[in-house]
Parts: sequence; structure tokens; C-alpha cells
Amino acid sequence: MADSCTLRRSFMTLILEESPVLEEIVVKGYEKVLKVTDKKSGLKAIICIHNTSLGPALGGTRIYPYATFDAALNDAMRLAKGMTYKSALAQTGLGGGKSVIIASPAKKTKELLYAFGQAVNLLEGQYICAEDVGCTPEDLKIIREATPYVVGLVHDKSSGNPAPYTAWGTYRGILSVLQKVYGSSSVFDRTVAIQGLGSVGSRLAELLFWEGAKLVLSDIDQEKTANLAKMYGAKAVSPQEILKVECDVLAPCALGGILSADTIPALRCKAVAGCANNQLLSDSDGDALLKRGILYAPDFIINAGGLINVTEELAETGYSPTIARAKTHKLYDELMKIYQMADNNKISTHAAALSLADYRIKYGLGKRNSRVQISHAR
Ligand code: NAD
Repeated sequence: MADSCTLRRSFMTLILEESPVLEEIVVKGYEKVLKVTDKKSGLKAIICIHNTSLGPALGGTRIYPYATFDAALNDAMRLAKGMTYKSALAQTGLGGGKSVIIASPAKKTKELLYAFGQAVNLLEGQYICAEDVGCTPEDLKIIREATPYVVGLVHDKSSGNPAPYTAWGTYRGILSVLQKVYGSSSVFDRTVAIQGLGSVGSRLAELLFWEGAKLVLSDIDQEKTANLAKMYGAKAVSPQEILKVECDVLAPCALGGILSADTIPALRCKAVAGCANNQLLSDSDGDALLKRGILYAPDFIINAGGLINVTEELAETGYSPTIARAKTHKLYDELMKIYQMADNNKISTHAAALSLADYRIKYGLGKRNSRVQISHAR
């Protein structure tokens, strides 16, 4: 999602005598952006809280060797804002936040993760972290030693791997675009091209295979692509080809920013429906898809299954996979509503999704009315 917020870089130094040190960076449109440092462990991180109108901010912790501090800051801001929209539309009663640790995942240490947990703890539940790129359930276990504000732990009261829920939500999203485009949600004999065969993409391929879809598969890991293509009688294509494949549905399940002025003119699909975060390089790419007559299932709705699942950990009654499944299933209805809104207002589905999220945030629709219950801290 493109971020139009202007950044004012006045560091209002704060905060607490003990390490780690948290310094506030004032950013227009964001509730709290904190630069976190800890001399002892070498921790350099950013915790970004975009909006808590509907509940405390929840979002993963990305561990990545960003080239510059500004690159890390921009990523954290963009991702935190995306979480606000995702939560508002999935009605989780949560706000949006994200954190990034500037480090190579190969070089992270116990001390560094513990110090990060201490920083999260200082926020007393305003921000709840979870796994993300470079951050594993084992890392979360170390962070948990310093703070209870963590979800997605390997724990008997926890929700486990979010990928099956994300894959199911994405599958339901594919049914929704087929329904809208062809008047039938059946995937039988429809061609779906999947870019990225990781935790979510490979599960999605399996779900589609059993329902009779024809698959075109691509991953930068050629061996993985070949193995899955063999297993599902699919066509394997190179990463350079996948976006240009003639198909009913293109399912981006790898990277963000892949739908742009460079790639949209070459698409040969009727719809785009995949799990990757931030698929549009900029908001205007939503309009470009509309102009080309390609139906787009907004990423921050279709890929909300994992968030829905992890949120169920915070329920007063404790985590329930059946409730998480039922809520993920309903992403189909949420998407159909967005397509209708877009048609009625002659705007892109992306613009319709943004405006519905803004409306819910502005009027507090779906606001959490009870304290979050951290399951593993009970
Ligand atoms: P993953 O890391 O398990 O899989 C990503 C796959 O994409 C890898 O197999 C990788 O080799 C492949 N890939 C990378 N670049 C590629 C390219 N140019 N062409 C083809 N393949 C390429 O990640 P994941 O957990 O499956 O998530 C996939 C996407 O969905 C990411 O954008 C992620 O942010 C988003 N997402 C995931 C979840 C979840 O529950 N895991 C939830 C919401 C959103």
C-alpha cells in the first residue's frame, strides 16, 4: 500500500532510564513510532503503532538487514498501516502496528531478542507482536521471556501456524472473484496461476487441485516448482513468465509491489486474488487494474485468515480453531461486499476497501469492548 504520510524527523527523545532506549519519532498520521536501541545486545529496531482506534495494535516482527534506517522505517510504517486496514476489515477489534529489527536473521542473538521483548513490554500492551519474515516461533519464545504481549507462540493455548488459515481465506477469495466474473464460484476447469509456492502458496495449490482447477505454478526454487507441478499435474513456468500467463485467476503468493505500471499492461488474467501483502506498488495501480477490466481482490482482505486465527488467541474463551475457521470462511462475503461497493461507486475494489476501512475506523465500528486476554499469560 502506498504511503502518503509525510515524515517529520524530529526525534523527541524520551524515555526510560533502563536499556533498551526508546526514542519517539513524530510521524504525521501515526500514533507512535519508536526507535529502539540497546547498546548491550546491539539491538536496533523500530516499533510502529499506526492506529489503535479499534483496539491495541497487533502486527508481526520482521527481522531483516535493511540497508538504511530510513528503509526500515518506511517498511515498518507501510506494514503497520496495512495492519490497521486489515484488522478493521476483518473486524478483529484490533489496531495496526508492526515492528522491524534491523539485523540479519542469521545473526540474531538471544540477548537481542530479549531486549526487543523488553521494549515491547514497556508499551504495556499497546502493541502485540507476532512472527513475520525472519522471526520464528523459537524467536518469539525468547521475546516471551521479557513480555506477555506476544501471539503465535508454540504453546498449547496458542493458535499455531497461520498459513493454513491464510491459504483457506485466499481460496475463498478465489471463489469470490470467480463468482463475480463468471457468475459461478466453481474452480473446476478454471486456470489459476500461482506465483510463490511457500507456506501459503503450496497449500493453496493443494486446495485448488482437489477442487479440479488447472494450475500454473512458479517459484524461484525450481526444484520445488517441478515437484509440485508433478504432484498436481500442473504447468511449471519461470518467475519471469508467471505474471504473463493466460489464466482465469492470477494468485500472487510471493512478494509485494508486483502489480505496477510495468506489469499490469502485460497481465492476461480475468482476476487477481492471492495472499501476498502489498501487491499494488501504489494505490493508483488499483485504478489501472479496473481500467484493464481485471477484478482485484484487495490483499488486505483476502489474506486476513492468518490474522483472524491469531486474534482468536485473544478471545476471553480462549483459542478455538473452529471459530477461526468460520470467521476466515466469511472473507468471501466481505470481498463480495467490496466488489458491490466498487461497482456502485464506479471505483476500484482497492479504493472501495480503503474507504470501508476508513469509515469503520472513523466511527469505531468493530471496536474492541473488552481487554485483550493473552492466552499464555492466564
Ligand atoms: P514463504 O516465504 O513461505 O513463501 C514465499 C515463496 O515465494 C517462497 O517459496 C519463495 O521462494 C517464493 N518467491 C519469492 N520470490 C519469488 C518470485 N519472484 N517468483 C516466484 N516465487 C517467488 O511466505 P508465505 O508465508 O507463503 O507468504 C507468502 C506471501 O503472503 C508473503 O507476501 C506474505 O507476507 C503474505 N502473507 C502470508 C501470511 C501467512 O500466514 N504466512 C499471512 C498474510 C500474508
